[in-house]
This record gives sequence, C-alpha cells and structure tokens, in this order.
Amino acid sequence: DAVVRFEDVHFAYVPERPILRGISFTVPAGRTVAIVGPSGAGKSTLSRLLFRFYEPQGGRITVDGQDIASVQQDSLRAAIGMVPQDTVLFNDTIGYNVRYGRWEASEEEVREAARLAQIDRFIAALPEGYDTPVGERGLKLSGGEKQRVAIARTILKGPPILVLDEATSALDSFTEREIQDALDRVSRGRTTLVIAHRLSTVVGADEIIVLDQGRIAERGTHLALLGQG
Ligand code: ADP
Ligand code: ADP
Repeated sequence: DAVVRFEDVHFAYVPERPILRGISFTVPAGRTVAIVGPSGAGKSTLSRLLFRFYEPQGGRITVDGQDIASVQQDSLRAAIGMVPQDTVLFNDTIGYNVRYGRWEASEEEVREAARLAQIDRFIAALPEGYDTPVGERGLKLSGGEKQRVAIARTILKGPPILVLDEATSALDSFTEREIQDALDRVSRGRTTLVIAHRLSTVVGADEIIVLDQGRIAERGTHLALLGQG
C-alpha cells in the first residue's frame, strides 16, 4: 500500500513566521506526486515533516491511514528511501556506501544494486579524500556518480516510499537526464514524493502541486498546468 497523506498541515519553525499554511494532498500507492515552487516555498520542510524531523503544529500526516506522530522515527526511515540533492559519502568503499542502512544484504545483492545503478565497476574503490592506503589514490566521483551511489543504496533498501529532494538539481543537464532515467526506474511502482524547483523536471508525475508561500497555488497534471499558464 503505502498511501501518504498530508491533511491540512500547518508548520512554522518560529511562531511568527508560518512556513506551511494548510497543506493537503495524497500520494496514492505506487504513484508519484511532485512538489514544485520557488526556493523558500517550504518544499524541503514537507519532507522533513514526513521523516518527523519536526512535528506539524496543525493537521496531520498519515501513512496507510496511521498518523506518523505515533510511528517511531526508525520505522519511518526504514519505510522511506531518500535521494537528496547532494550525496555525502562515508569514509569507506563504494560498496559499503551502497550497503549503508541495510547491513544484512548479501554481496550479491549489493553487486546487483550497484549494477542497476551502473556503478559496479568501482564498487571496491574508496572515494577521494579519504584514508586510502599509502601509494593509492582515492576515486574522484562526479556529482552524477555520487547520485548513482544514493540510487544503488535505495535500490538495495527497497523502501515502499521514496522521497527525491532536488535529486538532480546539482547536475549538468546531460547528467541530469541520465540520472532522471535511473530515478524513474527506481520510483516505478513506489509511492514517490518528488521535490523540484522546475516544472520541466517532473513531467511524468501523476500530480504536480505548486507551492507558494506555504500554500498550494495550483495543482494538476503537467499538461493541465501548462494549459492554465
Ligand atoms: P524550499 O525547500 O522550498 O526551498 P524550505 O522548506 O527549505 O524551502 O524552507 C522554507 C522556509 O523555511 C524558508 O524561508 C527557510 O528560510 C525557512 N527555514 C528552513 N529551515 C529552517 C529552520 N531550520 N529554521 C528556521 N527557518 C527555516
Ligand atoms: P536546501 O533546501 O536548499 O537544500 P536547507 O534546507 O538547508 O537547504 O535550507 C533552505 C533554506 O532555509 C535556505 O535558504 C537556508 O538559508 C534556510 N535555513 C536553513 N536553516 C535555517 C535556520 N536554522 N534558520 C533560518 N533559515 C534557515
């Protein structure tokens, strides 16, 4: 299942400055909803609330009908996979980085996830800047390759819910298209919340929600929104 619902969610980091003012939307099971809007609109705040980094001051967020306020943060993290804007790698091999969060995975599973994300050729390598053995150089990963590590990690984890928070916005447009394809494959069949600042990167979403100053300014499919504009 994994239906995610925001019901009249209100949130402010500081009382005098409301960030979300009554946000309601549903991500149906296996579907993709995209949140777009200018920087500062409150998009990332939505994902922080979904992970319970903060609690809403009004309304509620449910997963399969259960208010997440009563769900352990660990269980939420297990159920939700996240591909952030920039992936910070840990001081260990790429394989370790893929395995992060699912330590019980077998070598074969790690290799398969790395293959699907197309990083299997450097699974044993250490990223640049870390403690590499004397005489060896760390591997310098591009932004796109780092995103592939995050994608492999998500494939291995296999969560029912996925949050993609500006996952391609730090990439050049050619790499962006490649990574977008990989993300589309991972999100297929998963309940997915995409956060983006441009409408053009979320063409395939089942619903697009345009956030502006903490409210939903517009919502609809890509075609419908273009028709209105
Ligand atoms: P977006 O992701 O749409 O760019 P954010 O959700 O990151 O927007 O931020 C929405 C607003 O909340 C911004 O005005 C930002 O400055 C403010 N904000 C974000 N994080 C905090 C915080 N930890 N404390 C106070 N204000 C914050
Ligand atoms: P982004 O969403 O761009 O990845 P952040 O979520 O860290 O980055 O921050 C979003 C915006 O919120 C930025 O403009 C940042 O300056 C602002 N912000 C982050 N933390 C705070 C904070 N504690 N107080 C006020 N503004 C904040």
